[in-house]
Amino acid sequence: MTKEKIQGLISGDISKLESLMEITLSENQKFNLTAIKDEESFRELMIYDSLIPLKYFSFDGKKVLDVGTGAGFPGLPLAICSKGNFTLLDSTAKKINHINNVCKTLDINNVDTVVARVEDYASSHRETFDYVIARAVAPLNVLIELCLPLVKVGGSFIAMKGSAGLDELKESKKAIDKIGGEVIASYEDTLPESGEKRILIEIKKIKPTNNKYPRQYSEIKKKPL
Ligand code: SAM
Repeated sequence: MTKEKIQGLISGDISKLESLMEITLSENQKFNLTAIKDEESFRELMIYDSLIPLKYFSFDGKKVLDVGTGAGFPGLPLAICSKGNFTLLDSTAKKINHINNVCKTLDINNVDTVVARVEDYASSHRETFDYVIARAVAPLNVLIELCLPLVKVGGSFIAMKGSAGLDELKESKKAIDKIGGEVIASYEDTLPESGEKRILIEIKKIKPTNNKYPRQYSEIKKKPL
């Protein structure tokens, strides 16, 4: 996707988004941050894709946690294009260090970062976020146990999924019920150039989560809900 095309499709600070792309692609050579290495694909798969939630949600004034953010996606594009307060969490320190450098360089002031495993972070930050969001981190039933405990009652978890999203949703009914959620909607999109399908799944937190969740990751993997 060219710069001109993405500019016509999104509303946001395109020059900051272009700088984010340039820094990420140049640091990628040192740190192996993402598999996407050319500008055209980066604009569609990392920038445009990260911004799809803004078609359906307003994060302005909200506390938003991006779980397993990697090099900062979707969190950094969302922070650049909205007035939410973002926390970007990943278990890999080198990725979070990179995000801290990007925020300093691009003067992004609405981002905090955390190096932690989300299941550990959840024990001290239960029910504190209006929205928790995750892209390309784990299957939906696992994500629900990891992410929904961090959402305030009345807030939502947003899973950014590909074409298998609705099948994963069918396998997640038990997890949603146990963790205190309710499916509100799924939103389908198609990426404009590659034609790849994207599905956002919104799960609202309707009651507090039992303190026994999330379990340790080894247990979640061995016996997913
Ligand atoms: N969300 C980013 C994206 O879409 O480009 C990165 C996706 S990458 C495939 C998955 C990321 O999730 C990795 O950076 C990994 O370190 C992180 N991750 C996986 N499990 C995690 C956990 N339990 N707690 C924190 N981070 C986790």
